[in-house]
Amino acid sequence: MSKGHCLCGSVSWEYSGPETWACFCHCDTCRRNCAAPVVAFIGVRLDHFKWTGQTPKYYASSKGVKRHFCDTCGTPMAFEAEHYAGEIHLYAASLENPQEFKPEFHVHYEHTLDWLHMADDLPKYPNSKT
Ligand SMILES: [Zn+2]
Ligand SMILES: [Zn+2]
Repeated sequence: MSKGHCLCGSVSWEYSGPETWACFCHCDTCRRNCAAPVVAFIGVRLDHFKWTGQTPKYYASSKGVKRHFCDTCGTPMAFEAEHYAGEIHLYAASLENPQEFKPEFHVHYEHTLDWLHMADDLPKYPNSKT
């Protein structure tokens, strides 16, 4: 069982079972949404996931996409999209213990900021993975 929470603790979540993916996204949309140079994602199955505190609000950043956030402290909480039916993508930095995160690859690598240097040998997909 892995757990996570927002800055103020009002919104929290937990999931069990294997992650559907664990990656870094360098796309401009995720970057702006999180105001971070790169975003670390954990994908989990919706039927193994639940919100355990206050239900977050969401912003529909494009058609069929929900970007959940804490209505109290503003922390981005999750990405959910019709084109990833049955799963939800959480932010590794929200984990109770973010050290648990084991990234496997990068997506949208062609949009990486020139001043961001990440020393790893993980696969780097120029756009999305598939
Ligand atoms: Zn909060
Ligand atoms: Zn992205």
